[in-house]
Amino acid sequence: MFSPARRRLALVHTGGTIASRPDPRGAGLTPQQAPMLDGMIPGLEDVELLSFQPFNLPSPHVTPRHMLELQTLLGGLEDVDGAVVTHGTDTLEETAFFLHLTLNVPYPVVLTGSMRHTGELSWDGPGNLRDAAQTALHPASKGRGPLVAFGGDLFDARTVTKVHSSAVDAFGGYPGPIGRIDQVADQQMEAGAALRYFAGPQERHFYTPQRLSAHVEVLYAYAGWQGEGYAEAQARSDGLVIAALGTGNLPAELLPLIAATRQPVVIATRTHAGPILPVYGYAGGGATLRRAGAIPASFLNAHKARLLLMLLLSLGMHQGEIRAVFEEGRF
Ligand code: ASP
Repeated sequence: MFSPARRRLALVHTGGTIASRPDPRGAGLTPQQAPMLDGMIPGLEDVELLSFQPFNLPSPHVTPRHMLELQTLLGGLEDVDGAVVTHGTDTLEETAFFLHLTLNVPYPVVLTGSMRHTGELSWDGPGNLRDAAQTALHPASKGRGPLVAFGGDLFDARTVTKVHSSAVDAFGGYPGPIGRIDQVADQQMEAGAALRYFAGPQERHFYTPQRLSAHVEVLYAYAGWQGEGYAEAQARSDGLVIAALGTGNLPAELLPLIAATRQPVVIATRTHAGPILPVYGYAGGGATLRRAGAIPASFLNAHKARLLLMLLLSLGMHQGEIRAVFEEGRF
């Protein structure tokens, strides 16, 4: 009798609160082990689980080199139907976006984590892991690039951001989730879950340098900034990103500094939503910065713009090519 091949799901654990417990000596929460949840995910009894733990870190310790390691691991998986990556929530959006830019695989990849640890009554790890697993195995998740599943919401790696430091619903980002997964009692449905996407998959662009050779720093603008720290950051960087004001404006003192900078300077916004627009013509206004050579980051936040700039510089791209990637939204 014909029996369909068992589906295979990769579970890649990298640390974070979902893998953390209170330190027995009272030093606070630390990632201590893989979440030990793999056998506990309901509805996956017929799925073959392949577990990996390339590193076990709090996500503030995750660097682009760890992201590249993850990309290599995921890129080398064969015959899997989906992959889930568990990750600390603090830099989860950066790893998701890095994978969005670099990982071209035929199966869905879904990142998740938890805001509460295993010892807390409101532990959100198991629910998020189950949602992520079901999303990764769902046919409608294909072709969308890495997704983030958190609290039942499904986010695109380009727009997702951590919007709350402690709430369980910690993720958001303009214009919001691209899908939703809810658990239902109906056994007819895929693994007991109702999953909807609100739009179709979009075109993607890949940038995969062999090495991350470029150094890019982020500067944060504020009222009264006269460029403190700019020269030092410029001297040690191959490119800069500035989390600027509003639609991408800066105090007047920054205009000559940017005009004199030979490396790419990408302008993002420190607000939590919206594009960079070259609207204002006063000294330091977005139109003057663009004329001085600055590159608008479009809708990307500063830390995602930094990853993209790092990849483009590591590929040896020049100013004009980098500008085209950002301005034409090729990410
Ligand atoms: N600080 C933790 C981390 O990012 C927070 C979390 O995982 O929720 O590793």
